[in-house]
Amino acid sequence: METAQRLLATQRQIPADAETVSHQLMLRAGLIRQLASGVYTWLPTGLKVLRNIEQIVREEMDAAKAQEILMPGVQPAELWEETGRWDQFGPELLRFSDRHDRGFCLGPTHEEVITDLVRSEIRSYKQLPAIFYQIQTKFRDEIRPRFGVMRSREFIMKDAYSFHLDEKSLQETYEVMYQTYEKIFDRLGLEYRAVVADSGNIGGDTSHEFHVLAESGEDQIVFTNNGNFAANMEMVATQMPSAQRPSPEASIEKVSTPGKHSISEVSTFFSVSEDKTLKTLIVHGEKDSLVGIVLRGDHELNRVKAERLDKVRSPLKFASAEIISKELKCDVGSIGPVKLNIPVYADYSTSVMSDFICGANENGFHYKGVNWGRDLPEPDFVDLRNISQGEPSPGDNGPVKIARGIEVGHIFQLGTKYSESMKVSCLDENGKSITLIMGCYGIGISRIVAAAIEQNHDDRGIVWPKSIAPYDLAIVPINMHKSKRLYDSVMELYQQAKAAGFDVLLDNRKERPGVMFADMELLGIPHRIVLSDKALDAGTVEYKGRSDAESRDLPRDDILAFIRDRNDPD
Ligand code: ATP
Ligand code: MG
Repeated sequence: METAQRLLATQRQIPADAETVSHQLMLRAGLIRQLASGVYTWLPTGLKVLRNIEQIVREEMDAAKAQEILMPGVQPAELWEETGRWDQFGPELLRFSDRHDRGFCLGPTHEEVITDLVRSEIRSYKQLPAIFYQIQTKFRDEIRPRFGVMRSREFIMKDAYSFHLDEKSLQETYEVMYQTYEKIFDRLGLEYRAVVADSGNIGGDTSHEFHVLAESGEDQIVFTNNGNFAANMEMVATQMPSAQRPSPEASIEKVSTPGKHSISEVSTFFSVSEDKTLKTLIVHGEKDSLVGIVLRGDHELNRVKAERLDKVRSPLKFASAEIISKELKCDVGSIGPVKLNIPVYADYSTSVMSDFICGANENGFHYKGVNWGRDLPEPDFVDLRNISQGEPSPGDNGPVKIARGIEVGHIFQLGTKYSESMKVSCLDENGKSITLIMGCYGIGISRIVAAAIEQNHDDRGIVWPKSIAPYDLAIVPINMHKSKRLYDSVMELYQQAKAAGFDVLLDNRKERPGVMFADMELLGIPHRIVLSDKALDAGTVEYKGRSDAESRDLPRDDILAFIRDRNDPD
């Protein structure tokens, strides 16, 4: 490919409205352009990366005996009514009507469509187990589309669905898919981790997520060094402490704390560590009610755990400052559980606290020396918080570590959630009708592009893993338009490289060398060969790998073999 004939669309400026590195680099390297909020066009270079990822996914899915199909993006409402998800799914589901007033949606996922297909096409146990997959555009009207294609409204997913006669067969396929995902993410050259996950509104019991490790990740993942425990933070239970609560020593006292709102301000004011304080969060309950959630000052709320509580509304909604001051007659920074006339849940860890500090429900005041049972009723103690770095892991696997991850894949054992409501059955060997058991397996193809960049970049641009780079190598001639001899030599190397199977980008623009170098680095092409008249005289080329600190001169005749060896040292 030659740059002069191609829409490179690189740009120097950091786009002002792009918050994450990957979003900035995807715009600067000319991979994508935004059409509407959360809706993007893939430019030529971006599409090449996307296709490289698709290809790896496709090869591994085919190797796992999954059959590729392509389902429509538009789905009829009736199918979603059969499973009850037309009502359950909420505003992420983009609904519309056709000219005959029939309800439709843009598919955010395809359980209904595939289940409908299997119900009419699969008749006999002999056709099972069956795995179907597609690589297709999804639409989810995300409340906060952000970070470019990381969380967009329209995106490309590989979704797969498996159908089984019995639980054992589902387990086997689930294991095969798990291993297939490992192969895929290994081949994509990403550092990732598989973790036990919550199955959310897709349904089912067992589920694992695959996360690309990156500091900017939205998810927290928790794991141990021995590799026996790895879970999404949402799923990590904490226990009721077994220690006895120390007996009260102090008496309760109201203290003026003007301007002290945050836990760190309050703990500094009282000269105590944060774990001697309580923080109280106010969230919405059912109807118009409010609910108090009490945590130890140094702990973090786990939203998923809070959403599971009977009296708490799901999805979790924090009460606004206005509602809090109207209903509770004080500001957010002064709330505490003493005489708080709403239901209160307190985290397990607070059950062993005594003589603690908390807001006094009066602006500018806190209590100190507070004790459960004596100064306020014992609340419902429940598991409400995130586990902290270094705490013992569940199942005695040593202390936990916490890292940030970007969810790029999710596999679920669905059971009969869809096959029961949509009545999908099939005859077994004895002619008996069996309700099929299902699994489903997603990969965020377009999100992987952003995740790969989050994990692999430097201050000059993208550093693609070589399996997904848009080009294998860049050829950059210096002043080629001034030298016929150089032109001929460049074209010869270009043809040789293509014939050797490399995907080559030849920079034949009449740009200054600095501009061309900067663009090739921004684009993240793994290998760069610079050709000049001077090097031609010496029979060399200047070579630089994308992550190399320095360039080096290598014999012109060996350069392609050298690059091949570097790509594949074995
Ligand atoms: P998330 O928790 O990030 O919203 P999800 O649990 O809703 O993801 P799934 O329904 O399991 O996601 O979808 C399968 C995969 O599709 C996810 O693992 C993710 O990689 C990708 N994906 C989901 N939502 C988006 C989105 N809005 N933009 C880009 N990719 C997405
Ligand atoms: Mg989602």
